[in-house]
Amino acid sequence: NTEALDDASIAAATALQPIVQIAADAGLAADALEPYGRYQAKIDVDRVSREAPPGAVVLVTAMSPTPAGEGKSTVTVGLGDALAAAGHRTMIALREPSLGPVFGMKGGATGGGHAQVVPMISINLHFTGDFHAITSAHNLLAAMVDNHLHHGNALDVDPESISLRRVLDVNDRALRRIRLESGDGRSTGFDITAASEVMAILCLAVDRADLAARLARMTIGFARDGRAITAGDLGADGAMAVLLQEAFKPNLVQTLAGTPALVHGGPFGNIAHGCNSLVATTTARRLADVVVTEAGFGADLGAEKFLDIKARAGDCAPAAVVVVATVRALKMHGGIAVDAVGADDPGAVRTGLTNLARHLENVRRYGYQPVVALNRFGTDTEEELAVVEDYCASQGVRCAVTTVHAEGAAGGAALARHVTELLDAAPSYTPVYPEGADVEEQLDALVRRVYGGAGVEFSAEARRQLERLREHGWEKLPVCVAKTQYSFSDDPTLLGAPSGFTVRVRELVPKTGAGFIVALTGTVMTMPGLPARPAAEHMGVHDDGTVTGLF
Ligand code: ADP
Repeated sequence: NTEALDDASIAAATALQPIVQIAADAGLAADALEPYGRYQAKIDVDRVSREAPPGAVVLVTAMSPTPAGEGKSTVTVGLGDALAAAGHRTMIALREPSLGPVFGMKGGATGGGHAQVVPMISINLHFTGDFHAITSAHNLLAAMVDNHLHHGNALDVDPESISLRRVLDVNDRALRRIRLESGDGRSTGFDITAASEVMAILCLAVDRADLAARLARMTIGFARDGRAITAGDLGADGAMAVLLQEAFKPNLVQTLAGTPALVHGGPFGNIAHGCNSLVATTTARRLADVVVTEAGFGADLGAEKFLDIKARAGDCAPAAVVVVATVRALKMHGGIAVDAVGADDPGAVRTGLTNLARHLENVRRYGYQPVVALNRFGTDTEEELAVVEDYCASQGVRCAVTTVHAEGAAGGAALARHVTELLDAAPSYTPVYPEGADVEEQLDALVRRVYGGAGVEFSAEARRQLERLREHGWEKLPVCVAKTQYSFSDDPTLLGAPSGFTVRVRELVPKTGAGFIVALTGTVMTMPGLPARPAAEHMGVHDDGTVTGLF
């Protein structure tokens, strides 16, 4: 993949500024900075001034993507650089990459071309160790659950009811289902760390006290008399908080253009809530006038969860919403096979507009005037781009062809101008379902109003779980839908803007620490697998220490 190699060489050719300089320029007090080497640092958020009014949030989301991604991270970084170049005090807030996609199919998550956060190799690999800490905290709890059973099960936990699984930051389908050798040999399995409830908790906690309280509230399963059993009941929450002590601090890095960026927390948008940590967003808002942040996959998943879960947890409603679209994804939704989307086909682009149209309609329903960032690829033709621009003009939607991948900040100037015009708007939105709607009503509203489907169907197991949610008074927690990112429906092959479909809910899993109910739909897996030819096959290290093949 030559595009991918370019990312690494562009990054390697750029001289980075010391992170202390980036921090000083961002107005961060010296005693709030905890450098991890020369180019990365953690921030002690208690030492960040709260005096200035919080900066405006710009949310970057997308149409339904191709498997390669449509450039949300790239556009987020490029837009941040463009706003900074235009004189705005800007900060970027992004998720941390997961090793699963890095070694699997999708690649890293630090942007691309001339719109990257750096040091990209470090950020994409072990970075400041946050994923390790989250994995460890989660698995400590799992070990304490089985240890409790082993030592007499004083809480009378029903082993069959244990919903807590183990986690690892890897794509490994062989771990989806495992049988434990100890005890009665119960079945369990692994999820990827990005789907861990501990990850969601770290990303939604407003402060350390909230983090500790949320950890204690995590439900691991039920006692035989029906009581919920929590991490607090097992006495695990304190040790978990200890393991997360450093991980809870946001990580400061820079873009190739020297714009400060907080990269912190990494839940996926399909199987989790898909946004970087709330503390990173809040901290960035204290330091900057404009914060550009991203929410995973299409707007049906990322933007929906940003607004219905994150913004409610932490009062961070965006002032503006950017929807990234690409000609190649439009062609895919217009019926072209994904490996043939490089060929000129304005007709297919036009057909595929149905997908973008539904996302734009959704963003409007939330009360925003969307801005389309048409992320230009080398294979796009003028005619194809014009199809999208003309469509947006006909709908009264702002659209800017964006070339930040090829040109950096200059390629995002037009997009930045559109966004700037919206920043004074009061950050408020109309939810799709009202607070107080129960899980069934929420799912129905999401399927009918956001996905464009006909309704929801529950498996027998999901029905039983719904009853249990009601018994415990959890039925009004927001739902976090785990769904394929490729389609509005739960079937990844239904492209464009399908209608009349039913979304099948397999399971409803209470995540009482995160404060939401995960609805597993279709065949989406919380532990991904590797593709036939994983990216890992092309990687290595030269004798001089240079990493090759990562991107
Ligand atoms: P997302 O955040 O939507 O998943 P990314 O920003 O990670 O997408 O981009 C996915 C891949 O596509 C990255 O390898 C990135 O370098 C590449 N990419 C993004 N935009 C462009 C572009 N305009 N031209 C070429 N490659 C691009």
